[in-house]
Order: sequence, then structure tokens, then C-alpha cells
Amino acid sequence: MDDCLFCKIARGEIPSKKVFEDEEFFAFYDIAPKAPLHFLVIPKKHIANLMELESGDSDLVGRLIFMAQELARELGCGEKGARFVFNCKSDGGQTVDHVHLHVLGGRAMDWPPG
Ligand code: 5GP
Ligand code: ZN
Repeated sequence: MDDCLFCKIARGEIPSKKVFEDEEFFAFYDIAPKAPLHFLVIPKKHIANLMELESGDSDLVGRLIFMAQELARELGCGEKGARFVFNCKSDGGQTVDHVHLHVLGGRAMDWPPG
């Protein structure tokens, strides 16, 4: 999508600190990290939010979650784990309308979220 921030990041039109990229996915460090490790995994396909997912996206989302797990492991969270979060629309606290999975690690997280 032309005017989507994360589509632009995935296309390399806006710089980011890349964690990983393949044909389907792009992973990059969050510009305002909320934990010692904080990166985002996005599909290159523009999907605005989790509510917009369709049944045909289920394999894509499965691969996205598995990729986040592999990257979290590689970046040191295998033993203690991490927080994997999809914020969705206004009540979910989503600020960028391109579906993204947050991976936060390197410290213990609180529950419930505020
Ligand atoms: P949301 O609030 O939508 O769940 O998460 C969006 C995230 O994107 C936020 O954590 C925010 O810090 C991050 N973000 C916003 N703009 C940029 C940017 O230009 N570059 C990077 N790397 N992260 C961004
Ligand atoms: Zn997009």
C-alpha cells in the first residue's frame, strides 16, 4: 500500500534496523523499544489489523508466528521466553495500521497490561 508506514519500511523506502527479511516477511527493531529486546515482525502483504485477517491468511499468520519464535530464540529469549503481542485497532492500542507482531524480551513483563 502506497501510504502505509510499514509497507514503506518493508520496501526499504524508509530506513529501519533490520532483523530478518524473506519473500513474505520483514522483521525490524522498534524505533521506541519498550524492553531490552523489542522487534516487530510484519507480513509484506498489507493487512491493516488482526480483525482484517481472512481464512486464506491462516498459513501466513502461522508462519509469521513461527518466524517470530525462531528470531526470539536466536536473539537470546529461548530460555526465559518473551512477550508476543498483536495490538488491534483503537482499544488494542494499535497505532500503525499494518498488522505486526511485537516481540519483547530481556526482562520480565507485567500482567495485565494497562
Ligand atoms: P502499535 O502501537 O501499532 O502496536 O505498534 C507500532 C510500533 O511501531 C510502536 O511500538 C512504535 O514505536 C513503532 N514504530 C512507529 N514508527 C516506527 C518507525 O518509523 N520505525 C520503527 N522501526 N518503528 C516504528
Ligand atoms: Zn502496509
